[in-house]
Amino acid sequence: MDNTVKKLIGKLEEEHSLSREEWLSVFGGWDDSDRAYAAEKARAISLRVYGNKIFIRGIVEFSNVCKNDCFYCGIRRSNTNAQRYRLDDEEILMCCDEGYEQGFRTFVLQSGEDFAVYPPERMADIVRRIKEAHPDCAVTLSLGELERDALKLLKDAGADRYLLRHETADKEHYAKLHPAEMSFEHRMNCLRTLKELGYQTGAGLMVGSPYQTNECLAEDMVFLGDFKPHMIGIGPFLPHKDTPFRDMPKGSYELTLFILSLCRLMLPDVLLPATTALGTIREGGRAQGVLAGANVIMPNLSPTAVRKKYMLYNDKIGTSDNTSDSRLKVEKEMAEIGYEVVITRGDHI
Ligand code: SAM
Repeated sequence: MDNTVKKLIGKLEEEHSLSREEWLSVFGGWDDSDRAYAAEKARAISLRVYGNKIFIRGIVEFSNVCKNDCFYCGIRRSNTNAQRYRLDDEEILMCCDEGYEQGFRTFVLQSGEDFAVYPPERMADIVRRIKEAHPDCAVTLSLGELERDALKLLKDAGADRYLLRHETADKEHYAKLHPAEMSFEHRMNCLRTLKELGYQTGAGLMVGSPYQTNECLAEDMVFLGDFKPHMIGIGPFLPHKDTPFRDMPKGSYELTLFILSLCRLMLPDVLLPATTALGTIREGGRAQGVLAGANVIMPNLSPTAVRKKYMLYNDKIGTSDNTSDSRLKVEKEMAEIGYEVVITRGDHI
């Protein structure tokens, strides 16, 4: 039996780092027994660091209008079939109030890049109002790429965290996923700025995005190991019927779980969500994500009426639910595997 990958997993557990070549050996040679081996170790680490406690964050998807045209994304500007919507400030605050009642202590405001209608000043005002209403809560933003001044304004208004997946750490791969008007350097610089400004910063990627190779994944792992984000969002790529990638195969469920475990082994304290895409590709996927080392789940707080419109990929789960349904489902799914949803901000340690 060839134990190369298991040896590298052991090395990662001890040293929290592998070279690009070693990552290539892992991605080129793993099988299901390696995945189980990594999951067992990763689960032990997350139990040691976070116990059997699962942090929840409520997502408010407040606008699906986007100026960008990412080839993979269902809310890209060229998708004329998307029914566009925008929540007003009162609606956003109401979603947070309802979430608070349900035990959420982190609110994630996410949208397409819709800065013309939600400029930083307006978002800063919304952040301030959420923090005034719920001083014991964290606010996470996921608005896309902004300049330093805007990010500083939002930080000063009280935003605690920012999610901006890097999508891929390979510049050539980035250019195959995005139109030429979008810049790899700009996204990476934005991530660096977020960290400098003191945000708890989340990077991340889609597993199995079109044209992704083992070299791309090795580059992603080297980047994540160097950058050391506080959070890593990882889910499988899932095609959307109204995008140029409609006929591309979905990402691998198993590889997504394996990469979650590898991230936990590399960055033991990292906040690692079992994502909605993971729950979409396979029923029970989020529970398996937790068993592979994840410790965060991000249920939806958006009004049920708009959920189907924030369709990043086909068949997204939870779009017919209300806030209470989403919350209860997660609680049940976690209880079934011996984990407990806790009422806390759930900051990075
Ligand atoms: N506009 C913000 C930004 O660019 O970060 C936040 C919203 S964006 C829709 C959130 C994430 O959805 C992206 O970072 C991307 O990784 C993910 N996503 C988009 N389309 C997807 C797809 N087809 N399959 C899986 N994930 C997808």
